[in-house]
Amino acid sequence: MVVLLKKNIDEKQLNRLINWLEDFNIEIHMSQGMNTTIMGLIGDTSVVDIDLLKALDIVEDVKRIQEPYKNANRKFHPANTVVNIGGVKVGGGDFALIAGPCSVESLDQMKQIAKDVKSGGANMLRGGAFKPRTSPYAFQGMREQGIEVMMEARAVSGLPIVSEVMDPSQLKFFEDVDLIQVGARNMQNFELLKELGKLRKPVLLKRGLANTLQEWLMSAEYIMAGGNEQVILCERGIRTFETATRNTLDISAVPMLKSLTHLPIIVDPSHGVGIAKMVPPLALAATAAGADGLIIEVHNDPPHAMSDGAQSLTPEAFAELVTAIRNILPFAYKSNE
Ligand code: PEP
Ligand code: MN
Repeated sequence: MVVLLKKNIDEKQLNRLINWLEDFNIEIHMSQGMNTTIMGLIGDTSVVDIDLLKALDIVEDVKRIQEPYKNANRKFHPANTVVNIGGVKVGGGDFALIAGPCSVESLDQMKQIAKDVKSGGANMLRGGAFKPRTSPYAFQGMREQGIEVMMEARAVSGLPIVSEVMDPSQLKFFEDVDLIQVGARNMQNFELLKELGKLRKPVLLKRGLANTLQEWLMSAEYIMAGGNEQVILCERGIRTFETATRNTLDISAVPMLKSLTHLPIIVDPSHGVGIAKMVPPLALAATAAGADGLIIEVHNDPPHAMSDGAQSLTPEAFAELVTAIRNILPFAYKSNE
């Protein structure tokens, strides 16, 4: 971190600042120019409140040289992280194809979709049991019963299961869930992230509706700081001024994250665009951009789905898409990290 000081500053205030920084075990290198004085801060500056520093009378500007996330940072961990989810690897060349309905609706539905997406090429099964809905009057999910249904669908298909947790109090139901999803609305639910950090289980961390890549990586850092390193990031579209699509899928996040972090990054084109027929082109674009996998909503009867039918593919459309994905995978962008 570099601190640019104002001209003609008060020595007493400067000494107070130096003492304050030294209390954090930070070493200070002063460099006096003709017009400006620069302080170079060496050590763990993640503990320093940058806004507090900027607000000081004697400080002109502050710049962070190193990103505030350590565990997720590619600089300190150059090799790609590979997350193993019930035997299915994601990252470092292994591609996740997660498919299933937005919501778990019944045991029969889930068993049938599990078989269909498996024969279509999926290697994991998704299904929301606890649903974050904009309206309190909309279907809220089958809740713990939905998790049990997912487990039965795993038993018939052999596919590891992915489901969303919304609150730490629900974690007791997730002991047998292979990949725990944190939804966009909970990306900054720090208490939930801390609880997930205590587990030794894979977590799928979706990007918040209006969060920067740095904020997202700081959320991954919350989980990793607790010792749980099995984090997969999921780009699912962000809020922009555009209203023609449900969200704006930020494909550029994929190659950018590849340079910033060693964590696997998958893409959710279903929530990204919100329109079923536009899911395949975006899924292919994400694959070509170097994503480590996709999560796609698939429903046996989209017009009657209890949530997100408009963006759900039929099992047939999913199988067709998987063939196209496999065709372009060998040509996908690979970062040189
Ligand atoms: C979902 O996966 O069904 C979901 C609610 O996603 P998101 O958190 O990305 O909106
Ligand atoms: Mn959904």
